[in-house]
Amino acid sequence: MGIVLIWSLVVFLTRWISQKRRGAISYDSEDQTALYIRMLDVRVRSQLGFEQERRGSHPYLYVDFRILHSRPESAGPVSARNVRRLLSFQRYLNSSQFLRGIPASDPLSYILDDDYTGQAKLMLEKVGNWNFDIFLFDRLTNGNSLVNLTFHLFNSYGLIELFQLDMVKLRRFLVMIQEDYRSQNPYHNAVHAADVTQAMYCYLQEPKLAQTLTSCDLLLGLLAAATHDLDHPGVNQPFLIKTDHYLAALYKNSSVLENHHWKSAVGLLRESALLSHLPTEDRLSLEERLGSLILATDISRQNDYLSEFRSHLDKEDLCLTNGGHRHFILQMALKCADICNPCRPWKLCQQWSEKVTEEFFHQGDIERKHNLEVTPLCDRQSNSIANIQIGFMSYVVEPLFLEWSRFSDTRLSQTMLGHLSLNKQGWKEGRDKPDATNSRASEEQRTSVAKDSNSRVLPQGSKGS
Ligand SMILES: [Zn+2]
Repeated sequence: MGIVLIWSLVVFLTRWISQKRRGAISYDSEDQTALYIRMLDVRVRSQLGFEQERRGSHPYLYVDFRILHSRPESAGPVSARNVRRLLSFQRYLNSSQFLRGIPASDPLSYILDDDYTGQAKLMLEKVGNWNFDIFLFDRLTNGNSLVNLTFHLFNSYGLIELFQLDMVKLRRFLVMIQEDYRSQNPYHNAVHAADVTQAMYCYLQEPKLAQTLTSCDLLLGLLAAATHDLDHPGVNQPFLIKTDHYLAALYKNSSVLENHHWKSAVGLLRESALLSHLPTEDRLSLEERLGSLILATDISRQNDYLSEFRSHLDKEDLCLTNGGHRHFILQMALKCADICNPCRPWKLCQQWSEKVTEEFFHQGDIERKHNLEVTPLCDRQSNSIANIQIGFMSYVVEPLFLEWSRFSDTRLSQTMLGHLSLNKQGWKEGRDKPDATNSRASEEQRTSVAKDSNSRVLPQGSKGS
């Protein structure tokens, strides 16, 4: 029965896709999409059942069925998200060439949708550029930036061969990670995770790190970046504590979110069996180190890490042949990657600022509605994007990146500090006069920094990037 169902799906999809390619159906053809979803839904419910399929061995079907079942029976018009979901079947068809054992010349050719492959691949060739526009990349990959970016980086570092990772399990793992980020969060979603992963890659390529990090360090650094905010609820730790959320009780009010991100990541690692071929001891050690990296992103412990970093730099005693020191630098790199938005070019910095403020203010609205004390940072009545950003840049971002540039005094560090300074100035100008953020003088300065970082050949990946 299962084979018949899959075969009928494949036939339907092949026809649907070939019609689309001929221009008979567009991506927006909601009638066709609704028909297709209905067909899947009925078949899955009546013949297989979600749990049975969940236990099945096919990762692609598993993922898509899971999403379809999360759609209420009474759902109205098909959303853009479901359309994207359908497109993943196209990837499934392409990837089935791999499953049948037909060698593909380029791993990305069956990961990305045909219509976007060219543009997305072009972007990935410059994935080490600090101006990398993750929002554009996310659009070009139909909302699959985290999966495609992380897969590409694993591949370019040769981690798949080195750790003998099963490509299907890896793909399944990355899709599960992406899906477990909550897309309704304005900020803490899979695009933020992809952005942090891209920034992490830039730092891993910095000479001091590139010359000393082991393959295991690289694997952990990328894994930690991709999973560091997994299943983020879109509210902060104090909110979880004051509302007696079960996670706060579970983790005893300490690094509640970060513990949850880590444990969620470990859960997906085990569910996907990505590392199941490794000895148990090695696997547990990797999970522990992953936790140590993710826990370092707890902003409430910022000063502890910063003091330790400063102390090492003052004493000049960091020795990256030492495993413990390398791990500490990975923690610092991840912390930088997590809060690097203000160090990006203005256009990107501004978009991230709007998104994070929207999430903060949403929390404030909930607090007000339920007569809870409104967190000052989340109060839209007494705060503004500019104020929040200027405070964040001055007290959190700047101190960290100044130390990072002491550690890694490179052109990238100077570029980041340059953007940070200009962006802060931009918010200061905009604080009193919104249009001033586009003032000619500032714009000229920004353009010159942008040109500088565009012309710069940032360290590139070890293979083909
Ligand atoms: Zn984050």
